[in-house]
Amino acid sequence: MAIIEVIDVKKVYNPDEIPVEALRGVNLQIEPGEFTAIVGPSGSGKSTLLNIIGGLDSPTRGKILIGGRDISEMKESQLIDFRLNNIGFVFQSYNLIPVLTAIENVAFIMELQNVSKKERNQRAMELLEEVGIAEQYNRRPSQLSGGQQQRVAVARALASRPKFILADEPTANLDSVSTSNLLDMMAEMNEKEKATFIFSTHDQRVIDKAKRIITLEDGIIVSDVVKSNLTHVS
Ligand code: ADP
Ligand code: ADP
Repeated sequence: MAIIEVIDVKKVYNPDEIPVEALRGVNLQIEPGEFTAIVGPSGSGKSTLLNIIGGLDSPTRGKILIGGRDISEMKESQLIDFRLNNIGFVFQSYNLIPVLTAIENVAFIMELQNVSKKERNQRAMELLEEVGIAEQYNRRPSQLSGGQQQRVAVARALASRPKFILADEPTANLDSVSTSNLLDMMAEMNEKEKATFIFSTHDQRVIDKAKRIITLEDGIIVSDVVKSNLTHVS
């Protein structure tokens, strides 16, 4: 079963003033294990779509089913809990908590889920190892480079064992080396941890690494391409 079903979603901002039609009827299904890029020009509706899938904003029309559950029907308090346990978020500006160290930033999410201290520290350290910054576990965000902070953010997103991770322009503030390293790491987590990633981007190097590419234009999906699994045999 699809983990995400977007059914005829429309989004109109400022309906009572000068309305902006950000999404004009989007239908989409995401299966477990996908590594999918949402692409399209600036203003095409990428952030709006990710925010609505993540329950951070609500659609004007249509439905979002996550694991078969309609999140647009949920009350805010229910939704907060649902998000915590089902969805991991990565933002372009990292959004780490400045006063917490790398490991504390990752463990914190699990504290909200009432995971024991021993278990959360152990899992946080394992995740920092997997994303390749175990050595910096005790540093605060200001003592880490952008690429390193985004690795912590990915580890944090994985910590709650979410059904999927939404990343809105995760490499927007990274240089090309860090961008390529971050994508390789995410692809590895997709393989090893079976983590499902949906990320928006307009960076061609990021698009090239995706296994499925969904293109938005003017609030509509204009193409949806799944790359073939055929490997080149030489
Ligand atoms: P993208 O992420 O592809 O750049 P967005 O989803 O941010 O696209 O924006 C889609 C459209 O909705 C744009 O025309 C944008 O100006 C508009 N928009 C986005 N957020 C808001 C908002 N909070 N209020 C009004 N208009 C918005
Ligand atoms: P990556 O994602 O490969 O770590 P970065 O851009 O984060 O890419 O960093 C590339 C290298 O430069 C890293 O090894 C990092 O140690 C170093 N570096 C860059 N900026 C900083 C910074 N502000 N503080 C500490 N180290 C930095």
